Amino acid sequence: MSSQQQASGPRHPRGNGGAVRPVLVLGLDGASFDVIEPLARAGRLPNLARWMEEGASLPLRSTVPAMSFPAWSTLATGLDPGRHGLFDFTQKIPGAYRIRFSNATDRRGETLFSRVSRAGARVLCLGMPATFPPEPVNGLLVSGFDAPISVGSDARAASDPTLYNAIASKIGPWMTPDLDEGASDGDWRERAAERLPQRVERKKRFALEALDQLARQAGGRPDLAMVIFSESDTVSHHFWRDHDPDSPRHDPDASLVRRAAVGRVYEALDRACGELRDAFGRDALCIVLSDHGSGGASRNIVHLGRRLAECGFLERASSGGDFWARHARDLALRALPPRLAERVFRRVRGAAARIESMARFGGIDWSHTSAFSEEANTQPGIWVNLQGREASGSVAPADYERVRSELIDCLRDWKLPDGGPVVARAWRREEVHSGPYVDRAPDIVLELADDAGYGLSLVPTPWREHAGPSVRTLDRHELAGGRGRGMNGTHRPEGVWIATGAEAARLQPTGTNARPSLRDVAPTILGAMGIPWTDRDEAGPDGGDFLEPRRDYTPEEEERVAARLRALGYLE
Ligand SMILES: [Zn+2]
Repeated sequence: MSSQQQASGPRHPRGNGGAVRPVLVLGLDGASFDVIEPLARAGRLPNLARWMEEGASLPLRSTVPAMSFPAWSTLATGLDPGRHGLFDFTQKIPGAYRIRFSNATDRRGETLFSRVSRAGARVLCLGMPATFPPEPVNGLLVSGFDAPISVGSDARAASDPTLYNAIASKIGPWMTPDLDEGASDGDWRERAAERLPQRVERKKRFALEALDQLARQAGGRPDLAMVIFSESDTVSHHFWRDHDPDSPRHDPDASLVRRAAVGRVYEALDRACGELRDAFGRDALCIVLSDHGSGGASRNIVHLGRRLAECGFLERASSGGDFWARHARDLALRALPPRLAERVFRRVRGAAARIESMARFGGIDWSHTSAFSEEANTQPGIWVNLQGREASGSVAPADYERVRSELIDCLRDWKLPDGGPVVARAWRREEVHSGPYVDRAPDIVLELADDAGYGLSLVPTPWREHAGPSVRTLDRHELAGGRGRGMNGTHRPEGVWIATGAEAARLQPTGTNARPSLRDVAPTILGAMGIPWTDRDEAGPDGGDFLEPRRDYTPEEEERVAARLRALGYLE
């Protein structure tokens, strides 16, 4: 392609012959060097080990909070959460004690796939969280685990339904929720440990078929292929304690299958990475990365609502609406077959969000409450019950800063049984976030402390037990985790970056920060492709306002999303 063509309007590179340099990105959700390095040394991850040696590997700093939704959105847009606007799976509605479920239309900023498409190059993106509803791309995008599905991904999660169906008719759906149901029974773990590597295998086959069909469609591979696997994250949440004999939640009686689960998923991922790189072409730049890391969970869980009550910020009403909301929801989910439950929820518009809102905000005596927490482990934070903003605000605007200072003091004095801190850092939100969407973050943003190398879990306060503690050490029978106990593996703020192939060693995601962070990845990838990174209006072409999202989930979509998040342990 001539330089003249490049200068004038969109280019149409044709596969390998195009002007754009191809890049393969393999996303391993929650992957951590703490797992990769020992397995690589033991010869169990031959591909990743070789690529780390030949190319470059670095820890990659995640977002605050270090969670899939904000983190992948930052990777996709090159913007921090305060600028792209997605902080969590859910978003508190300003002025109301209610939440809604977030989706890709809440995110602002142009994505990497859109930029690449706009440059006339072709894209394959499979499985990235927070990409539903799918945006149009020059190629194919299939949304990630948070897409509202009941029996498996379908064409609605794809930017090109026809192409999706052509692939799925040969391979099956990109994703099926086959191991999420009934996470409480004992056999579930044995089954999940077997199925997770099989899921990696199926996604790999789907990706290979997608590469093949895209190549046949246009006479060459896509210029940017991104394949995201969520299994590394799921396996860490549920099997860390079996993988790590030092975990305070370790079960010495765990079966071999359970103890091997983490290693076997990483081995399956290593094989998938190798085959996908072979199919894409060894000549191309290949980047393996994660959105955040993973580690083990402490035996201690913390209840932020209870802490706020201890410090005098929060008072309970006697009705206990949150308890009944949770109870009714659990009962409905347990008693009804999934399809029937779906039909019931369809009749009650917004039922999933309404019930979730009740669970988070019900039972609070608002006139005597100056601060409250959603108690979401995915985004630990505190809202001030501010007059003029909240429906029943009790704190005058003039007292806002004083209350925030008192909240930080209350968090600083919060101690674990051994005297260590519960909270590593507590910020006023504008100290950690900047941009037009800072007000979507809670007034106080906090990071839980590291409890001797293990992560604390923020778990909703069981208010019906009147005088419980704000920090609780789990009993032996609770260590596996589950509702009210947190998961036995938790996220870490550092993910991975491994680059290999063309010019990989010279390539580092470095932006304005000294340490490479997720924010630097999109400009780095675009730069490697030879597409200039130009800053675009962060508000996006539609200038959409948060209160009127471009598209809300339909009630049944919302219930499916809620059910998936609950099954995965992200919602209590
Ligand atoms: Zn993640």
